[in-house]
Amino acid sequence: MKAVDIAKELIKFDTSGPPTQEQPCAEWIKAYLDDLGFETQLQVVEPGRANIIAKYGVGKGPGLVLSGHIDVVLAGDPELWKISGPFEPVVKDGFLYGRGSCDMKGPDACMIQAAEELLDHDFKKQLTLAFTAGEDTGGWFVDRVISDKLVTPKDASFGVIGEPSMMKIIPAHKGAGGAHVMIHGKAAHSSRPELGINAIQKSADFLLELRGLQKMLNQKQHPLLGPTTVECTIINGGFKENIIPDQSQLALNFRFIPGHEAPETSKKWLIGIIKKLSEKDPDFNAEIIDHRASIPLDVPLDSPVVKILKDILGSEPVGAPYYTEAVSYTKAGIPTVICGPGSIDQAHTPDEYISLEQMEQGVATYKELIKRVCL
Ligand SMILES: [Zn+2]
Repeated sequence: MKAVDIAKELIKFDTSGPPTQEQPCAEWIKAYLDDLGFETQLQVVEPGRANIIAKYGVGKGPGLVLSGHIDVVLAGDPELWKISGPFEPVVKDGFLYGRGSCDMKGPDACMIQAAEELLDHDFKKQLTLAFTAGEDTGGWFVDRVISDKLVTPKDASFGVIGEPSMMKIIPAHKGAGGAHVMIHGKAAHSSRPELGINAIQKSADFLLELRGLQKMLNQKQHPLLGPTTVECTIINGGFKENIIPDQSQLALNFRFIPGHEAPETSKKWLIGIIKKLSEKDPDFNAEIIDHRASIPLDVPLDSPVVKILKDILGSEPVGAPYYTEAVSYTKAGIPTVICGPGSIDQAHTPDEYISLEQMEQGVATYKELIKRVCL
């Protein structure tokens, strides 16, 4: 089948969530790839939720893994879908509309068509297709593919995730992280502020130091990603207009470049700020309530998958602001980059669409990639 027709079939399955049910969609892909001669495995990870892994040329040595997710974000207000219903795909004026057309059932379908068109050739290396549940809707079940060893470096030397990138090659993206910091004060009547400690105003001191931290971080620039960033995104404090607030909680959001991802690193920055402020001001009292950090993607620019894609597409790699499953594969020893048809600007929007021209480019690129790696 043509990618656009495969994509339409996939879009008809409502895999939005949470709560999400990807299994019927995964079963459709399994049946389709079984018919083509793939060795397939449906991995049910939770009731109604499944990954599907399909291999061609097993035993021929590690080749390529092409991967994408099959869950989609919720459709939102149905009134906002003007062209068609979110799960009623239509093609109009050169675009395919429907939830997931761009992120990323369209790109998934391009991978399937590309593979299908080459199956009459003799495969010298194994091709693996892996379509996962829970990427956008919670679960991150690609990690179950990895931990159950359903795709390992014995299957693939490298991989591509087809997240929409307008066919740009993305070997690097930032890691994400965050923390909650509680600033403690002392409640008092607001007419007698000298008896209390205003936790919100102490938060201001912390935020000024956070700006200083950002200045320091700006000094280390990744060639594709720029600097690590830290932003305070939520502030919660105070409960009555005439009471000096005794607590103020700050939510911090980090985006890490390679080298800053170790949890101790960013934790140390925050501890440093708290220590500095406490030494200067005996009334300053703060604690880190929780803290997390995830690793960035950083596939070297001279790695084979980047080189081959550069040669096929004739374009230079770029960085991306969003986080992807490529990290999970790369961490497992399969260097994986992002390269997919469609624009991330259309992801998660009502009347989500992908251009058929992008899909054609996707199919052609994946086909050439499979040829060069597996045939
Ligand atoms: Zn996506």
